[in-house]
Amino acid sequence: MNLLEHFVGGKLISGSSDRKSKIFNPATGEQESEVRLASKADLDQAVEVAQKAFETWSLKPALQRARVMFKFKELIEKNADELTKLIVSEHGKVYEDAKGSLTRGLEVVEFACGIPNLLKGEFSENVGTNVDSWSMRQPLGVVAGITPFNFPAMVPMWMFPLAIACGNTFILKPSEKDPSCPLRLAELLTEAGLPDGVFNVVNGDKESVDAILTNKDIKAVSFVGSTPIAKYIYENSAKNEKRVQALGGAKNHLVVMPDCDLDGAVNGLMGAAYGSAGERCMAQSVAVAVGDIGDELVARLSKKAEALKVGPGMDKTSEMGPLVTKEHLEKVKSYVDLGVEEGAKLIVDGRNIKLQGYENGFFIGGCLFDHVNKDMRIYKEEIFGPVLSVIRVKTFEEATKLINDHEYGNGVSIYTRDGDAGRTFASKIQVGMVGINVPIPVPMAFHSFGGWKRSLFGDSAMHGAEGIKFYTKLKTVTSRWPSGIRSNAEFVMPTMK
Ligand code: NAD
Repeated sequence: MNLLEHFVGGKLISGSSDRKSKIFNPATGEQESEVRLASKADLDQAVEVAQKAFETWSLKPALQRARVMFKFKELIEKNADELTKLIVSEHGKVYEDAKGSLTRGLEVVEFACGIPNLLKGEFSENVGTNVDSWSMRQPLGVVAGITPFNFPAMVPMWMFPLAIACGNTFILKPSEKDPSCPLRLAELLTEAGLPDGVFNVVNGDKESVDAILTNKDIKAVSFVGSTPIAKYIYENSAKNEKRVQALGGAKNHLVVMPDCDLDGAVNGLMGAAYGSAGERCMAQSVAVAVGDIGDELVARLSKKAEALKVGPGMDKTSEMGPLVTKEHLEKVKSYVDLGVEEGAKLIVDGRNIKLQGYENGFFIGGCLFDHVNKDMRIYKEEIFGPVLSVIRVKTFEEATKLINDHEYGNGVSIYTRDGDAGRTFASKIQVGMVGINVPIPVPMAFHSFGGWKRSLFGDSAMHGAEGIKFYTKLKTVTSRWPSGIRSNAEFVMPTMK
């Protein structure tokens, strides 16, 4: 059995804990590896290593740190096929989708290559007579990232390229369901010239997460995962005086206006609802049909959902792969059962799919519900599987109210040909990331990613300008170089003269 270890101080180490967790290939249902789960002592030891590395890494000129990022970018491109296969083998998503997610992570590395420019501060000459004022952003120290299973490369790469480029050292606690790709990224960073101890991977579960939250040398925590855990991370990081950004779950709506390009909306919905088997925080799991477009929308969606090609991620013809684990498959199926019990109309039922040669894989076909209403649990809760609900409303105002009343506020889209509807929607909607005729409005690396309401706890989104701000602290210097120091002390509040 392949045993995955921790990566600390530039090498693989076993640590002191003998607890392990199983890792499956979701397409075959076979266990392929196991991963060691760190103890508190293991985590604390990794932080010590990272703290030591910070002393020198933080002093390196930003240009030298950028050069490591340039090299890392090259290595990711060179090893893209291997990294993609690692994602497919443990997560299950189809090859091209996995490769796309790696590219979205790579774009943050590209952004981090510009760190000398991004760290430039502000300067004001003569804020008072012969007094200058300037600001700089300095790294925090050791920072940690705790990441979910659904993007084993991209989500860690939302965090560590910027954190490291800013001069911090990093502890990554990846999902215990698919840690192979992050471990390989750690090796590539070393190959790129990153000094030992700057980037470390500590595998584990709640025990290592709690150790992160209580370790006094960790200055900031970035988290992405489900809402209950995001809230727990937010509260406990704050309690332990850490900076925190904690991104949680989602229930995203795509509004289909009667005037829209319906083929565009249907194609957008198919990819956004069923891509990555719905295991995306930006998955569009609710289609809001406005006016009388519902019947036509459901007719077109059902035809496509029935024809969805479900299969193993390495099969180039597969459009949708399996779910990540058997437990998750059972959970998603139970939500479909619940929807039927709640009275929604199940138009396409993917529960009983069987794939020849992959009978033990964690597969479910695309599911489509019509006549879902806002009181049903399948509408209120995140299912995180290939289950699309259609909810019918009469007006644009009803659609926006529905969305604004939902507890989550990660992503949202509207399909319309009307500029006024699009603009009003973008302005009034209580959601962090908005698409207008764009199905999955994930911001690029040089913008910032983050939801509103219970989809993000903390004040800061990931990457872009917000990422730089999160991983640095501001220092403002006010200086005077007079020909001679004034001899008398001043006891009144200083004002610039
Ligand atoms: P999860 O919350 O179960 O796990 C996330 C991380 O927290 C993992 O590293 C896990 O080991 C750790 N963890 C799990 N239980 C814990 C506990 N009790 N105490 C401390 N740590 C714990 O999430 P997941 O199932 O891996 O990922 C899916 C979820 O992530 C979905 O809700 C999805 O919407 C969300 N997600 C959100 C975003 C976003 O940007 N908002 C992006 C990707 C995924």
